[in-house]
Amino acid sequence: MSQEQIKIPQATAKRLPLYYRFLKNLHSSGKQRVSSAELSEAVKVDSATIRRDFSYFGALGKKGYGYNVNYLLSFFRKTLDQDELTKVALIGVGNLGTAFLNYNFLKNNNTKIEIAFDVDEHKVGNVIGDVPVYHMDQIEERLHEANISVAILTVPATVAQPITDRLVQSKIKGILNFTPARLNVPQKIRIHHIDLAVELQSLVYFLKHYPITEEEE
Ligand code: ATP
Repeated sequence: MSQEQIKIPQATAKRLPLYYRFLKNLHSSGKQRVSSAELSEAVKVDSATIRRDFSYFGALGKKGYGYNVNYLLSFFRKTLDQDELTKVALIGVGNLGTAFLNYNFLKNNNTKIEIAFDVDEHKVGNVIGDVPVYHMDQIEERLHEANISVAILTVPATVAQPITDRLVQSKIKGILNFTPARLNVPQKIRIHHIDLAVELQSLVYFLKHYPITEEEE
């Protein structure tokens, strides 16, 4: 089946990296096959959803056999472009940004933060976790030179929109926004928003108002 023919629903696509990470671990431990029940337990997605997701990839699990780990892995690698390294820029080398620079994304993904930007003179010129930090004045030129299409935003919320406007003018196609700001971008740009404070608050709210009963566990 060629990649062009496969149209995966967005909800399924979002679970791919999760499946991929788990299958990679299975593969390194020498496992050849896995059941949807095992997968379900490990990635915390119900097995009916897993079976439906996998049917989109042409992976039909056999009863009593499960799924072929190698087949799934090579499918995911191609679909997630794991054979190709995606270079990422990080903007805002504060506490969160610095943690990301020190985190080795390559362990689980084929993405790498290649370059970082800040306006603080004490941070510009530093190299953190192998990543050089440049001044924002150079962002357009450097992004163009390094051919980078994905950016992580870890700046204060107040400056997120003007920075995004500059990114839109460059070749950036996707932004992972860690600021609480809701960003306006043209349709051709994809934004994924992760607001850690909201996520934490929502977890606390759910724990309080929707306590998990014993049977659900
Ligand atoms: P720190 O304690 O290092 O200031 P922080 O995460 O608490 O980190 P924030 O105020 O959220 O600090 O800022 C995050 C980073 O964004 C800082 O390194 C700051 O210098 C940088 N920053 C602020 N304004 C801009 C801007 N316009 N462009 C790029 N980076 C910026």
